[in-house]
Amino acid sequence: MNETAAPPEVLRVAIVGAGPAGCYTAGFLRKRWPQAAITVFDRHDAPYGLIRYGVAPDHLGTKAIAKQFDRLFARDGVTFAGNTDIGTDVSLDQLRADNDVVVLATGLWADRVIETFHTAPGTGAAAPLAGVYGSGRLTRLINGHPSESVEGLTIGRRTVIVGNGNVAADLVRLMLTPADVLASHGVAADVIHALTAGPLEHIDVVGRSPVGAAKFDVAMIRELGRLADVRFTSDAAPDAGAPDAGAPDAGAPDAAAPDAADADGKAAAIRELVAGSPEAAGRTVAFHFGWTPDRVTGDGRVSAVTFTATGAAGGAGTAGTAAGSASLELPADSVCTAVGFTETDGAHISRASVASPRADPDRGRLDDGLYAVGWFRRGPVGTIPANRADARSVADAIIADLEASFIPTPTSLT
Ligand SMILES: Cc1cc2nc3c(=O)[nH]c(=O)nc-3n(C[C@H](O)[C@H](O)[C@H](O)COP(=O)(O)OP(=O)(O)OC[C@H]3O[C@@H](n4cnc5c(N)ncnc54)[C@H](O)[C@@H]3O)c2cc1C
Repeated sequence: MNETAAPPEVLRVAIVGAGPAGCYTAGFLRKRWPQAAITVFDRHDAPYGLIRYGVAPDHLGTKAIAKQFDRLFARDGVTFAGNTDIGTDVSLDQLRADNDVVVLATGLWADRVIETFHTAPGTGAAAPLAGVYGSGRLTRLINGHPSESVEGLTIGRRTVIVGNGNVAADLVRLMLTPADVLASHGVAADVIHALTAGPLEHIDVVGRSPVGAAKFDVAMIRELGRLADVRFTSDAAPDAGAPDAGAPDAGAPDAAAPDAADADGKAAAIRELVAGSPEAAGRTVAFHFGWTPDRVTGDGRVSAVTFTATGAAGGAGTAGTAAGSASLELPADSVCTAVGFTETDGAHISRASVASPRADPDRGRLDDGLYAVGWFRRGPVGTIPANRADARSVADAIIADLEASFIPTPTSLT
């Protein structure tokens, strides 16, 4: 903001990104500034970001969070401008020129890549073998994202899911959910067919961390226990549970170092899931802990995936995991990487490119009148409630900065 400028007739605020971070920020700013013109832009024609295109369709309670944001647009006078990609349709400079405050809430949507999985062996080409999929693509497909196509997607009879966060758990659950139940949640028929028609018989879920440091929430593991006709196994030692903060499963949605109780809880949840599952079942899921992804192999299409013991490969220590072997090769018709999200290659708006020397990232400030919130500010970690807390603190910083710059007439900021 220009500190000497007169207060505008109507304060103009643009928020880029209608995911939870952008919508919560709009709500907090609206509360403080009832008369301000607040517009939330999104590149999609429909709002709510990963609530719409990430959160699993059978998690109805979480999906319903979007309803409270509907009120912002229907009742609270916040404008939604969909189908507008900032950086392409409208430049960020133009948006900043037209508004007193611009808040970037663009999230981080690209799948984090495991180089050796996404480079076809022998070619060095930056393209995966057929059958290697990122969880972002799969979860967008399952959620009916308009730009994703099921073309070329085959999960087959055996799949390997790399990662042990909540997104990996979502994929296990959705792949083993009966077709009619998926259909009742609005999943398209061709997507259901691609997921289940193998028919899928076996899933290996492989994480770098020991079980106590796995990134899934205990509730997500308990939920798997409700699936019918599935036998669960795990290679974690029976007494495993001590956290090994040195070997986190990078990029999964929750980055906090686990404490001892949390580690015990995770190990216990896996033990209970295994113990409570039938001795024999039509489908099997094997959890593997303490294995670092190495490479995929196959002729044109993936046929196997290799991991090395995390301790042997990286010296991080795998006590209670990895069954004492340095290498694990798993046959696979497909591989799904669920190892976190990152900035899209060539994204028009990146934090590094817009942050000025006046930036104060802890408060969400990137430059005068320019702010960041949500996954774009903090990285791809944390659930929806974390974005609410983040939005509140960034909104407070915006209000403080703006009102300070208009002293002595802060009341004219509405
Ligand atoms: C697969 C998956 C499942 C999840 N499940 C859960 C769950 O069950 N419960 C839970 O609490 N959390 C869940 N999360 C985490 C949760 O979705 C995130 O914490 C949250 O969505 C991040 O909010 P955000 O607003 O920062 O980003 P996003 O939700 O990604 O929103 C960013 C928005 O910005 C828009 N945008 C991007 N670039 C531009 C541009 N240049 N111009 C205009 N618009 C742009 C995008 O279209 C998008 O709408 C899940 C995450 C994933 C990936």
